[in-house]
Amino acid sequence: MTSPASQNQKPFTIAILGGGIAGLSLAIGLHKRSVPFHLYESAPAFAEVGAGVAFGPNSLRALKLIAPELYEGYIERATHNAFDRKKCTWFDFYAGMDTGLGKAGKHIVEVTTGKDELGQCSIHRAVFLDLLVSFVPQERVSFGKRVIGVEEVDAGVRLRFDDGSEAEASAAVGCDGVKSNIRRFVLGSEAESAHPQFTRKYAYRGLIPMIKAVDLLGDELAKNSVMWIGRHGHVLTFPIEKGKVMNVVAFRTKADGQWNDDHWVLPMDRQSMESDFADWGSSVKKILSLMEKPDVWALFDYPPAPTYYRGRTCIAGDAAHASTPHQGAGAGMALEDSYVLAALLAEIEDARELEEAFKAFDAVRRGRTQRLVKTSRECGKVFDCEGTGIEEDREAWRRDLNERHKWIWDNDLEVDLREGLKMLKGQKARLA
Ligand SMILES: Cc1cc2nc3c(=O)[nH]c(=O)nc-3n(C[C@H](O)[C@H](O)[C@H](O)COP(=O)(O)OP(=O)(O)OC[C@H]3O[C@@H](n4cnc5c(N)ncnc54)[C@H](O)[C@@H]3O)c2cc1C
Repeated sequence: MTSPASQNQKPFTIAILGGGIAGLSLAIGLHKRSVPFHLYESAPAFAEVGAGVAFGPNSLRALKLIAPELYEGYIERATHNAFDRKKCTWFDFYAGMDTGLGKAGKHIVEVTTGKDELGQCSIHRAVFLDLLVSFVPQERVSFGKRVIGVEEVDAGVRLRFDDGSEAEASAAVGCDGVKSNIRRFVLGSEAESAHPQFTRKYAYRGLIPMIKAVDLLGDELAKNSVMWIGRHGHVLTFPIEKGKVMNVVAFRTKADGQWNDDHWVLPMDRQSMESDFADWGSSVKKILSLMEKPDVWALFDYPPAPTYYRGRTCIAGDAAHASTPHQGAGAGMALEDSYVLAALLAEIEDARELEEAFKAFDAVRRGRTQRLVKTSRECGKVFDCEGTGIEEDREAWRRDLNERHKWIWDNDLEVDLREGLKMLKGQKARLA
């Protein structure tokens, strides 16, 4: 990416707290627009889990808007469904066990992403993270900096890190994920909405070499995205790494609704996984038997947030709207956040107006992203045939799945940004 002429054009600097998809994409957006920033990451290096992430059409548009070079880099590395006729297939849904939707192995519905030029595609998370990192100047990143406190000061915000050090910035954006310290500061630690809640779902995640997956399932089911539906669970697969690997996520509902371990990611106990899927059909059992080094993930989301900012501190990405992954849209929403927030901050010329940019961000992003948290939970119930009233009705199920994602995929982010910019302009005029 060509370096912006100067990082010092603006009389303020933004602290980005957390370097996952949200923090890094925001850093790229700010860098592109010559907004000074520094990113603080708690880990000793950038890292992502060994799994795939899929992007819908809205996510890809956001990526392109943040930086066309980033989008090009993504396209070079992305993996698509192997069959031309499956290019736009989000998932082909099959019965994973005998349910009212059909006998195990029966095709239920194909849900497509519409007439998007790229179609369905995904990427290995570590590959995507490396790509994001390649666009961020390394001198603007500090590692081993876990933020444990934020304080409002005259100059903006003072940050306290767990190594005893401190830093100041004109404003801060918490991109510190689903265990966000910054969210607790913004909403107040005593507020229920400041704390993640167990969604009653957990997921086994793992990878299978494609050659083995094809042996087991055949070309069509192994090389294109497929979801196996059952009662209180579902299993999804899609190709990553240019079709060399099949990504697997197997979801289950926890009967007692509790997650009692402090750790949310645990090494998988194969026996427990097999017993979780004991009454499923043979295709699902075979897929699970081939999963290499899987982990089990407890799925938490955040209750609705009444605001995404407090003074000069804002939250974005999962810190603002961690959701269940059932609509495959959390990372995409983080990319959308980054585009909108970077563009709003780029409009600010005086540090005293920074709060107004956060206010406009909150106004245009909170409704859409909170809607995802809600509908994603509902979607999990539809996939898992859990009392939605449509699990015995194939036609209703098909209709629901075909409509459910449109509001996510078809949104025009530039319209949202224009609304935010208009609001910001009005607020600035009132301040002047
Ligand atoms: C099973 C599963 C499947 C998913 N599949 C998809 C999908 O296909 N498509 C999609 O769009 N989304 C998907 N998602 C959602 C997506 O993974 C998340 O929405 C996205 O990764 C959130 O990115 P983030 O940067 O906001 O948070 P994170 O990825 O959690 O990054 C937070 C960063 O902040 C750092 N950090 C944490 N605390 C501090 C601190 N106090 N100080 C400094 N740094 C800190 C962390 O080390 C980390 O680097 C899935 C999620 C799950 C669980």
